[in-house]
Amino acid sequence: MDERKPLLLDVEGLTVSFATDHGRVRAVRDVSFSLREGEILSIVGESGSGKSVTLLSLLGLHDRKTTQVDGNVTFRGRRLLEMSAGDLRKIRGKEIGLISQDPMTALTPVYTIGWQIAEQIRTHEGISARAARKRAVELLGEVGLSNPGEAVDRYPHQLSGGMRQRAVIAMALSCNPALLVADEPTTALDVTVQAQVLDLLLRLRKAFGSAIILITHDMGVVSEVADRVAVMYAGRIVERGETEDVFATPLHPYSWGLMSSIPPLTGPRLSRLRSIPGMPPTPDSIGEGCGFAPRCAFTRPACLERPPIRRKGSQSALCVLEDPERSACRDSVLAMEEPA
Ligand code: ADP
Ligand code: MG
Repeated sequence: MDERKPLLLDVEGLTVSFATDHGRVRAVRDVSFSLREGEILSIVGESGSGKSVTLLSLLGLHDRKTTQVDGNVTFRGRRLLEMSAGDLRKIRGKEIGLISQDPMTALTPVYTIGWQIAEQIRTHEGISARAARKRAVELLGEVGLSNPGEAVDRYPHQLSGGMRQRAVIAMALSCNPALLVADEPTTALDVTVQAQVLDLLLRLRKAFGSAIILITHDMGVVSEVADRVAVMYAGRIVERGETEDVFATPLHPYSWGLMSSIPPLTGPRLSRLRSIPGMPPTPDSIGEGCGFAPRCAFTRPACLERPPIRRKGSQSALCVLEDPERSACRDSVLAMEEPA
C-alpha cells in the first residue's frame, strides 16, 4: 500500500466492556489499527472474537447505557469517541457507510428501497426529493440491479437476498463515503452472489476511492482483496500486517491454522485442515494472559502473562514465541496437515 496516502482512521487502545448480570466483561481489549485512504483492511477471526463489537463501538452504535468504550479513535482528524450521538450520526451515512451482516436490519420493511435511499441522501445533502430519487435509481444501477427504475419502487420483501444486500450497499454508498465498513456482507448470500457483491466492493473502491474495513470468514476473499489483515482472537488483535506477509509466514499460532485453510497458490495442496481443538473463551473468562493459550500446542508458563509484541517486517503478533523456535513450531503444525 502507498504509505504516502493520508491516514483516514486511527484506532488506539480500543477497549469495550459490557455491564452484565455477572459484572463487567471486556469483549474488546486494547485493539489498535489504522487505515489509509482507499485501503482495504480485513478483520478475521472466529465468531465471538469481538469483530462486530469493535466496529460498532467505534461508530458509536453501541448501547451507551451498558457499554463502556475507552481508547482513542481518530477519523479524518476528529475524535469519534468524544463526539455526541448526534454528531456521530452525521458522520455515519455521509463519511462512513455501514453494510451490516443482515440487510434487513438496515432496511425498513414499510418503505420502498428507493424512498429509503433517497431519505438517506436528503438527510446529508440539501437536495430535492426528485433529485434524490433520481440519484437512488442511479445508485441501484451502479450496484448491479438489472432494472433500477423499477426496483426503486419495490419494498425490501419483494427483493431476493442478493438484491436486498445490493440495496443496502447502494444506501451505504449514497454519499460517497470515505470509509465503508462491511461486517460479513456476504454471509447470508449464496456463493455466486457472494462473489458478485465482493466484486462490486472492489469496483466501488476503484470508482469512489473509498477505504474498506471488511469483516469476513472467507480467507480466500481476504487473500484476494485485502491490503492488510488483522486477526482477532478473544477480544484482541493477535496478529496484523500486510496480507501477503501474514499469509506467507503467519507469526501467531492461531493464524497458522487460519491461514492454511486456503489452498496455497504454490506448493503442495492440503487435502484437509485439522481443526484447532477446543473452543474460544467467552469474554467473562478471559484474563490478562494469552487468550489462545488453552488451545495452543506450544503453551508455556509465560503465556499466563500479557503476551509481548513480536515484530517482523510489516507484521506484528502478540505471542511469546520468537524465531527460530517459532518457525520450527509452525513447521511442525503444518507438517501434521495431510498432503493431498
Ligand atoms: P464477532 O467477532 O463474532 O463479531 P462480537 O463482536 O459480536 O463477535 O462479540 C464479541 C463478544 O461480546 C461475544 O462474546 C458476545 O457475546 C459479547 N457481546 C456482544 N454484545 C454484547 C452485549 N451487548 N452485552 C454483553 N456481551 C456482548
Ligand atoms: Mg460479528
